[in-house]
Amino acid sequence: MDYYRDKVVFITGAASGIGLELARQLVGLGARVVLTDRDGEACRAAAESLGQASEAVTLDVTRADDFEKALDAAWQRFGRVDIVVNNAGFGTGGEIADIDSGIWERIVAVNLMGVAHGCRLAFPRMAAQGGGQIVNIASMFGLLPGPLFAPYVATKHAVVGLSRSLRLEGKASHVKVTAVCPGFIETPLFDNAETAPGVDRDRGRESIPFRFLPVEKAAATIIRGVARNPERLVFPFEVRLLCWLDRMAPWLTNWLFLQSLKNTRNALAAS
Ligand code: NAD
Repeated sequence: MDYYRDKVVFITGAASGIGLELARQLVGLGARVVLTDRDGEACRAAAESLGQASEAVTLDVTRADDFEKALDAAWQRFGRVDIVVNNAGFGTGGEIADIDSGIWERIVAVNLMGVAHGCRLAFPRMAAQGGGQIVNIASMFGLLPGPLFAPYVATKHAVVGLSRSLRLEGKASHVKVTAVCPGFIETPLFDNAETAPGVDRDRGRESIPFRFLPVEKAAATIIRGVARNPERLVFPFEVRLLCWLDRMAPWLTNWLFLQSLKNTRNALAAS
């Protein structure tokens, strides 16, 4: 995995979960990592624990000016940034009628506009240095339906579309773009989700018919996969299978997700 040696990697939402584990493993592979998060204290603690090859920057990805300053500072400090990982995000849960407009605005601001800022600011800087790589952490819900997660699903579909388009725009200037579409991963995402009033997250989580991957395994898969520069990185296997099924027989995936929706509604009604 020499691909990452001496590369400068800038990660958003790196104080927790996938972003933190990516930072940890990338430092182990010889990269220099800028960890950013809106939770500055947790981000500093994380960077300290990773040692001198990492540094922390407080960054709320919804603040375009701060994002630009953070990227400029990284470019100034290291002379280049090889990889930007747009990872910051959060989840939602609940029936559409119970999700207020504030949740919609916040999730679009973080999960979509946060990624958009990362792309539009990193892209020209990478093109000017002769190339680079943008990694957008989407989700299996960027490719598949997710009843009761509709705002989350909407933002992740948007991130996949954004990534595919930019990948083509970046060919001429050697800016590579990958959309990462994982299934469920063991992180605090569920605890941090903004849910409709009365939704019992534990019951909701228990009703999900997918396995949750350990975060270490997910980060290792992302790191290995990104080095191959795919348009999309979809994992684990059952999510790839479901995406294939969705292309071949969408009625069948719709039926499967409908069964899952019934189970979740029953579980939530019993709580
Ligand atoms: P997490 O809650 O552990 O980490 C998310 C991080 O993003 C936190 O540190 C949080 O402080 C930060 N963050 C939130 N809003 C921010 C903002 N406005 N500016 C900067 N930082 C902000 O969750 P995670 O599972 O590690 O999620 C990381 C990404 O992976 C998300 O985009 C999520 O949608 C995606 N993802 C997660 C899963 C999963 O099952 N955990 C599956 C597929 C995709």
